[in-house]
Amino acid sequence: MRIASAFTMFPDFKGVEERMIEEDIWTEELLKGAKLKKIKFPEFWQAAFRDKNAFFQRVFRETENYFKEQRKGEALPEGEEIRIFWHEHCLFCWEKFMTDMDTECFCTEDYTLWSCRDCFEKYREKLSLILLEK
Ligand SMILES: [Zn+2]
Repeated sequence: MRIASAFTMFPDFKGVEERMIEEDIWTEELLKGAKLKKIKFPEFWQAAFRDKNAFFQRVFRETENYFKEQRKGEALPEGEEIRIFWHEHCLFCWEKFMTDMDTECFCTEDYTLWSCRDCFEKYREKLSLILLEK
């Protein structure tokens, strides 16, 4: 599946997202040998919000950029409310992940590439995916 345009909502992000769009890198090439960690929502979000960790920072930054670009003049939602503007998709099957869902998924350490559990198991061997321990 080609990477769709979800990332283009956040033009401030450079790097992987930009390369995906500009060079037509396909999902399998992108994730070959990727190191992924297991994420369980909503617990992962609750801890992120409590600790204001890197994942929280990313959600905050994405929401901030979204408001800057698409909702000029509107006030940024307060506290935990910012999470409703964040979601990601499995790069293989496009399953959607949100922070309040009861779901288990996998992502790279920088939270840019995501996979659902089924696709992780399906492609684990073929793409030499590495599961990071906590
Ligand atoms: Zn999937």
